[in-house]
Amino acid sequence: MLPPFDPWYASQVCADILVASHAGEDSLAVRRARRLSALLASAADGSPRYRRLLKGSDPGTVKLEELPIVRKAELMDRFGDWVCDPAVSLDVLRRFTTDPAQIAAPFLGRYVVWESSGTSGEPAIFVQDARAMAVYDALEALRRPVLRPLRHFFDPLGIGDRIAFVGATGGHFASTVSVERLRKLNPAAQSRLSGISFLQPIQALTAALEAHQPSVIATYPSAAVILSEERRAGRLQVAPSEIWTGGENLTTAMREFIEQAFECPVANSYGASEFLAIASECNAGRMHVNSDWVILESVDAHGCAVPAGILGSTTLLTNLANHVQPLIRYDLGDRIVLSGDRCPCSSALPVIEVHGRDDDTLWLGTRAIPIVPLALSTVLEDEAGLFDFRLEQRSSHTLLLTTGMAGVDADRLLDRARKSLGQFLAQQGVGGMKIRCKSGTPRPCGRSGKSRRIVGIPRTSGPPYSSVARARSGALSRRQLQCGVGSNPDPALQGQRATGLFCKSLHGGQAHPGQRVVRLRGGERPEGSFRNFGRHPHPGVNH
Ligand SMILES: [Zn+2]
Repeated sequence: MLPPFDPWYASQVCADILVASHAGEDSLAVRRARRLSALLASAADGSPRYRRLLKGSDPGTVKLEELPIVRKAELMDRFGDWVCDPAVSLDVLRRFTTDPAQIAAPFLGRYVVWESSGTSGEPAIFVQDARAMAVYDALEALRRPVLRPLRHFFDPLGIGDRIAFVGATGGHFASTVSVERLRKLNPAAQSRLSGISFLQPIQALTAALEAHQPSVIATYPSAAVILSEERRAGRLQVAPSEIWTGGENLTTAMREFIEQAFECPVANSYGASEFLAIASECNAGRMHVNSDWVILESVDAHGCAVPAGILGSTTLLTNLANHVQPLIRYDLGDRIVLSGDRCPCSSALPVIEVHGRDDDTLWLGTRAIPIVPLALSTVLEDEAGLFDFRLEQRSSHTLLLTTGMAGVDADRLLDRARKSLGQFLAQQGVGGMKIRCKSGTPRPCGRSGKSRRIVGIPRTSGPPYSSVARARSGALSRRQLQCGVGSNPDPALQGQRATGLFCKSLHGGQAHPGQRVVRLRGGERPEGSFRNFGRHPHPGVNH
């Protein structure tokens, strides 16, 4: 059976998205209000939870900010009370998502299903119908930056591209489900669309890429950096025309490194399992929210809106496309800065800066083999069932795996995780790793309440990207170190006036000498300057 697809509705949505891409703020606000009203009416009709909440209210006049903030754990605990279709049962969904043969298969004959990673606990499951998928498809296809204008003129949807998605291909993640769904819907595109697992050894990964010879590589920034190093070393013979990244932070330094290695432009996007295509870059390099279909509220620790230009504590997401599983003021956990400025590209879609995941790539063993953070978390979550963890590199051959859980069950889980991790690393060519485990050790929290789960140590030698390592070995000054990658800043420099070198190195020349630099979790930015980061996996999708 084919995955859910509604061609008539999809064509309507495409036409509307094309118009809305050039619409003014008022026109976007009208679309948002109309869709929010329809979402609330549908939630009040189908979801027992929202029927109680909205009883006696007119969905057309309810103010979004008056509705309660909801969180993943609470919604998953009361799944049956939340969804609008009583036939969608969490137990059946859990069984469905443990079977790899069911990836992209229609659930109950009418729904697309995927699960999130367990970044903040047990994975959530998301169910969407053909109408929601039509919106995601159209946003993914029509709101990308035009990196190749001539090509775009003749092939606006990129139908002729050979796309390789490099990610966790074995699970029901949004990115993998999306790729498999497209392959099933269009058998003619199967040879052009390839999902390549980043859990395999790097030699096998590069061989698979060379066999596919993609014109587009879609992957995570950390994986793109490793592939860049392989290409620079002559071990990866592919010549893509574009690299699409998402799912993690993409720093300016990473972007430049990837673009130089592959000699092609990078397009970054931001999405989540909760909404596949939240924002994408424009040709001016700013991240625009698809505000005609998704509402983002940047709020402080008390849930109050924060003004433009200020980093919020978390972000509330309202998905205007999914009427099966209403996501209304859902706490996404990411932190964003809303820009108060209009972008030079003239789009009225709001500009944001996103602060997402900032786990490290680990360089392990005598040969310093790189292992990307999402591969490590996939092994620990999917194979060992361990979600509450911190994996810390202590040396080239030693890792410390801790969990906040305590007791016999926690120790048993850690033991299983240690074995899975050891096997996985051996497959990558990193044998003899010592993995020490400790239960009852809660992760230290950052200011946002989120914390890094995978923490590496700097490299002291290796390929040219490792500017942090070179700085620490004395090749660069402390100031350059702070600029180079944008993480682990030296607190002593916080709030200081920047020098030209400082700004140019960190911000690609966007900041000005003398501008005050604000230190934020995971990096710095000059006041008033907004750069794009990402947190999404697919050619835009987040796990
Ligand atoms: Zn723009």
